[in-house]
Amino acid sequence: MKVRRHVKLILLCSLLSFLALAFSLPGLTASFFTDLELNLEKEVGRNSYESIVAEMKVVTLPEAEMERLNNIFDRLVRVCSRRKELEFSLTVVEEDSVNAFALPAGYIFVHTGLLAYVESDGELAGVLAHEIAHVDRKHGMNALKRQVGMGLLLQIFLKDAGEQLVKIGNLAVNLTQLGYGREAEYEADRYGVYFMEKAGYPRTEILNFWHRLVGEYGGGENPAILQLFSTHPPTSERIKRIQALPPTPTQ
Ligand SMILES: [Zn+2]
Repeated sequence: MKVRRHVKLILLCSLLSFLALAFSLPGLTASFFTDLELNLEKEVGRNSYESIVAEMKVVTLPEAEMERLNNIFDRLVRVCSRRKELEFSLTVVEEDSVNAFALPAGYIFVHTGLLAYVESDGELAGVLAHEIAHVDRKHGMNALKRQVGMGLLLQIFLKDAGEQLVKIGNLAVNLTQLGYGREAEYEADRYGVYFMEKAGYPRTEILNFWHRLVGEYGGGENPAILQLFSTHPPTSERIKRIQALPPTPTQ
């Protein structure tokens, strides 16, 4: 046991001296840490994805319907900035509430309740674009870093501690369900509108969606019905901000 502890200590020291060296070489540091963080995000994403599909009922839609959905999704992913470093995926789960959510590394989920509620491809695109924006702006990973600390996250990742990584995955799921905070939501709205418009869907579509929801559910007094409301800032404020965004440049 003593020998093992010794070996671990030596490994830790080498890691620390490597990190110290990496810090003194800016070029190396940047790419080293970017790669490390990206791999960590993928590992966390995969673990949290597995915990969701183990708990919720994944739905296989008829082929034509799935193709329509994937087509909308792909158009949006193609215009986001992390399209090359991540493999985005879309999963439909059986759940009546009007909701969608995103896990780190690009795992996007939609509830069947949302699919039934939207009245057009553009409305669905607006909600999906918001979720893609959460991944694009790393809101899930940032929330996790705040909660656990980057040092501890990396330690678990580098030790390849399977069981702890599963726990981190579960934590990432919980953070998703709690929402990422007001500013992150406004940012996801901003980027979401940009992505949807770049992909060819006008923002009026997502505005129609929000207006209809507010009209029908009163803007969030009943969070049990609508998780989208319970975890997000006041809808009236979101609508106002979306309307005030500058037009998306076309090229
Ligand atoms: Zn959100």
